Formats: sequence, structure tokens, C-alpha cells
Amino acid sequence: MSAASREAGVNGIPSDGLPVSGRIHHVATVVRDLDIAVKFHAEVLGLPLEQIADVPSQEVRIAFLTAGDSKIELVAPTNSTSGVARFLETKGEGFHHLCLEVADIDAELQRLAATGIQLINAVAVEGVEGPVAFLHPKSCHGILVELIEAPGGPAWKRLGYGDPAQLRIR
Ligand code: ZN
Repeated sequence: MSAASREAGVNGIPSDGLPVSGRIHHVATVVRDLDIAVKFHAEVLGLPLEQIADVPSQEVRIAFLTAGDSKIELVAPTNSTSGVARFLETKGEGFHHLCLEVADIDAELQRLAATGIQLINAVAVEGVEGPVAFLHPKSCHGILVELIEAPGGPAWKRLGYGDPAQLRIR
């Protein structure tokens, strides 16, 4: 990304204490039973539960727990044929993806595509916590990388999100 476009992305975000671009938004793990895993993370590890959501398009149920300035996402398949179900079957429970926050996700995807990074999503799609896109592990040293746009960025408007402050009670 040129200095000019990076500035444009950062300038798109209000400066009232919003997260810095590039922080780890969340780390996601695949679990067999969401309720059991939530109970462990909340009661044993002591992480506050933020939300549980169904994601029919991905055939999963997910939970977000707060871990300091970042989060942990737990992902459980809702059937035996989804991509996550196959992951669980072949690899078992464990690390699934790393999510980094960016100021302008579509600009970032364009920049990455121009450098030859293999994108799973060429443009941002609607995620539970904001606009998201995945980068292929083959281009990321074996790690499935998710990008998420910081609240109030340009893709929030394009995808029809409401006020970011309302997101947690959707
Ligand atoms: Zn995620």
C-alpha cells in the first residue's frame, strides 16, 4: 500500500479511542461442542462471554469471549458436512485462524492481491463482528488469516451495518 492510501484508510476511522489498525482482533479455535467450550473459557479461564451467534452461511455456531484488547472465537460445526466439520474430523479441536484488524479492508485486499497474496474473499463479506475476508494459508506461512475492518470503516457502510456501538446487542 502506498503511504497515501494507508493515510486515507486510517483517516476513515474516527480518532475517539478506536483500535489501532493491525492489532489482533481475535484468535479462533474449532471446538466440538460450543456450550462445553464456552463454559470452559468462561468459568475456568475466566474470560467474559461477549456473544453466541449462529452463522448459517458457514454452517457453524460461534462464540466470542473477551481476552483483554483481543478476543477468542470458538467455532463449532452445526452439521457433519461443513468445512469446519471436515477440519474437526481430520485435525481435531484446535487453532483455526488469526484475525487482524485493518482500517480499510477492501483497500487492504487490493494491496495484498497486487502483491500476489492468494485471497479467499476478493472483497469483504459480512461477518458477525464486522466486514471480514480470509487470506489463503498457502500465502500466509500455513496460517489461515482473517482480516476485519475496524468499526466505522468504509465497508461497514457498504455492507449495511448499523451503528457500530449497537453491534454487540444485535
Ligand atoms: Zn474469525
